[in-house]
Amino acid sequence: MARAHSGPAISSETSSSGCLYVVATPIGNLEDISERTRRILKECDLIACEDTRTTGRLLAHLGIRCPTLSYHDHNEANRAPRLAERIAAGDSLALVSDAGTPGLSDPGFRLVRECRRQGLTVIPIPGPCAMTAALCASGLPMHSFLFAGFLPSKGMARRRFLTTYQDFSYSIIFYESCHRILKFLEDGIAVLGPERVICVARELTKRYETFYVDKAANVITTLQAKPCRGEYVVIVAPKDFKL
Ligand code: SAM
Repeated sequence: MARAHSGPAISSETSSSGCLYVVATPIGNLEDISERTRRILKECDLIACEDTRTTGRLLAHLGIRCPTLSYHDHNEANRAPRLAERIAAGDSLALVSDAGTPGLSDPGFRLVRECRRQGLTVIPIPGPCAMTAALCASGLPMHSFLFAGFLPSKGMARRRFLTTYQDFSYSIIFYESCHRILKFLEDGIAVLGPERVICVARELTKRYETFYVDKAANVITTLQAKPCRGEYVVIVAPKDFKL
């Protein structure tokens, strides 16, 4: 059964019927957790998480004890309908991923869709997201943008995507791992040219947070000179954009 919620009198959060909370968690800096996030994680009946150990560490840091259940790429097709059943029966569930906003290059979509299909209540608890953190501090156009997430790891497919969008009028945001960042940028330069303005945002909200905002050729030269560690967001500016 759903527990009663304390805190501000927001109708959807004081309802006794079940619901799904889509809860963003820190992408590095634990101070980024909001009071509302803390309260929802404390008061929900179950937390569906990408990795129970990762979320367990966050809960321990917050001093929260709540049952957790794994919900990841390999079991979400199976788990989504079962979790929706629990919500329909009156439980309140929180969905979290290892970091950032669930569903964005992370598991979550199937459960949210299932809840919507069944007319269940879904409440976002907004918070950290690497894409918005990088974009808002990049200095690149942010009035409209395309979030492309992870591109295919194969060079051919990646270059095909970049070719399709080379004249796109808005900024394009990519996620990339430290193992592939240089290869990604090399392909980017091959297709978009060395003069294209890009932003590479590394280790956002963490101790070694760094922004490289420059022509692609200069950014890659800088990155090639040091070991590539950590997590990266890459933003490609529209073709004619000048810093
Ligand atoms: N759901 C997450 C979000 O809301 O941003 C993204 C999860 S996705 C599996 C992980 C990717 O997000 C990383 O490979 C990296 O591209 C990006 N990312 C996550 N945390 C980051 C950080 N602190 N700094 C830079 N990029 C980060």
